[in-house]
Parts: sequence; C-alpha cells; structure tokens
Amino acid sequence: MFKEKVLQDQVAVITGGGTGLGKDIAIAYAQQGAKIVICSRNEEHLAKGAADIAKAGGEVMTYSLDVREPQAIKAFTSAVVERFGKIDILVNNAAGNFIYPAEKLPLRGWKSVIDIVLNGTFYCSQIIGNQMIEQQSGQIMNILATYAWAGGPGTIHSASAKAGVLAMTRTLAVEWARYGIRVNAVAPGPFDTEGARTRLWPTPELEKSITDKIPLNRFTSTEEVAQAVLYLTSPYASYITGECVVIDGGAWLGKGIAGNMDFVDNFAAVREASKKARIK
Ligand code: NAP
Repeated sequence: MFKEKVLQDQVAVITGGGTGLGKDIAIAYAQQGAKIVICSRNEEHLAKGAADIAKAGGEVMTYSLDVREPQAIKAFTSAVVERFGKIDILVNNAAGNFIYPAEKLPLRGWKSVIDIVLNGTFYCSQIIGNQMIEQQSGQIMNILATYAWAGGPGTIHSASAKAGVLAMTRTLAVEWARYGIRVNAVAPGPFDTEGARTRLWPTPELEKSITDKIPLNRFTSTEEVAQAVLYLTSPYASYITGECVVIDGGAWLGKGIAGNMDFVDNFAAVREASKKARIK
C-alpha cells in the first residue's frame, strides 16, 4: 500500500499474533519495517507464526502469554522494553468465540470469553498504555466485530465483550490523546481462519448461508483487514482517533450478521459439526 517503509523501526505488539488475522497484521507490519512481538498461550502457534512473519523480513520476538493474567502482562511488557526499548503499537487481537444460544450458554463460557476479550484487552491496554504514556506516544488498535453494536445472535458473550471494547476504544482515545496516544478499531465481517471455521461455520452449508447474506457475497480476507489496520496505525492516519472502520462487504447494513438467526436455529447441528472439525 505504501511506497516507503512507513513503520521503519517501530515496535509492534500483536496479541494472538501467531495465527489468523493477527499473523497477517504482523506480516503487513514487518513488510513496512516494524519489529514484531507476538504473544499467545500456545508455543506451537507462536513458533509457526514467527517463521511466516520472519519471511516478510525484520526481527520477530515471541512470548508465551495469557492475556487474562495482568502480572504476566507486566513481565511481558518489561521483557519487550528491555529488548527493544519501547512499544509503539499494541494490537489487541487475541480472542475466543463459539456458538451458543443465550438461554443455554454455560456461565463458564460467558466468563471465559469476557475474560479474554474484554478483561484481556483492558489489562494489555492499561499496562502497555502506561509504557506509552511514559514515552508520550503510541497507538492501540482493537479488533472488534460489527456485532459490538448490531448484536450477534448465537454469540452474546463475544458481542457483549466487543461492545465493551468499542466503548474502551472511544474512552481511551479521549483520555490518552494528551499523551500522544491514538486508539482506533476495525470491525471485520466474517473471514476464514481455522479458529473461526471450526467454531462458527464448520460446514460448507453454514458458510454459504453466511456469504449469501453479505451484499458483496464473499468473506472479507485477512489481508484486506490487515491493510486497513496498517493504514490506521500509520502516520497517514495521524489525525484519526476513536474511530472504528468496518470492513464487512456491507454485511451489517444488509443485516447479514445482526438479523441472522441461523446460528441459533441450527445450534445443535453447528455444535456437532464443530466438535468433528476440532477433532480433525
Ligand atoms: P484465531 O486465529 O483463532 O486467533 C485468535 C488468537 O488469539 C490465537 O492466536 C490464540 O492463540 C489467541 N488467544 C486466544 N486466547 C488467548 C489468551 N487467553 N491469551 C493470549 N492469546 C490468546 O482468530 P481469528 O479468526 O484470526 O480472529 C482474530 C480477531 O478477529 C479476534 O479478535 C476475533 O474476534 C476478530 N474477528 C474475527 C472474525 C472472523 O470471522 N474470523 C470476524 C470478526 C472479528 P493461542 O491459542 O496460542 O493462545
């Protein structure tokens, strides 16, 4: 997208950066000259992700981290600052999700998603945000979904957590502008990653039922989302803060997500197919 390396020598932390969208954001950043730090729980995800990101050039640091653990995030932040001296960009991408009708959702499932998405995003933002306040510069990018404001039948836990992160995005954008920190978000429509496919649309029929309701009639690609993230965290977007850019092929306006009761109505079939997809 850019002629020059717009993120030369910037240090970017991407939670959940070893897989899916997080990895493609890391690759887009590495191509622009950034030093990359990816963190998540599974070391295998991190090692595979780091190998792919390294092909795009530059340094990659991996760190085993659960975003639900504030003490671990403090140790992680110190380790990154010790190695690179600063943190310029934080991408809050780590998440968990699965389909369940609200009236049957086990409370531990509710708590688990709220802990990762809402609490984890706040812990990372506050702890790394304090490092950015010390630097008097930095950027936070939150990965949302359009159900943050439109509602998401079948995913009330994730929709509620993302709604909280949208409020966090706007609140921090105002509170931390005085420290030279910009806070933005993107809200992608569905895109195909192993995590999403096995939990959300484990059969081709379900996948088709979703794409049929998207005005542009296809999923978003992770590269398309990564390029929007790159723009928003680049110097070209230096006056944009508190914004959420939607990249969903018109899906939420066309009621492709908010009005889609397929997940709820086909709950039993989705669960069954999802279990098989995960065993594979
Ligand atoms: P994914 O490949 O399943 O990635 C999720 C990442 O989060 C994994 O790398 C996972 O790594 C990490 N993670 C999960 N729990 C964690 C924890 N407690 N601590 C640290 N890391 C944790 O998912 P994706 O489909 O690329 O989604 C990426 C983002 O886009 C998410 O925020 C998701 O909500 C959002 N989104 C996705 C879609 C879609 O259709 N796929 C649509 C809209 C928005 P470990 O397992 O190694 O911990």
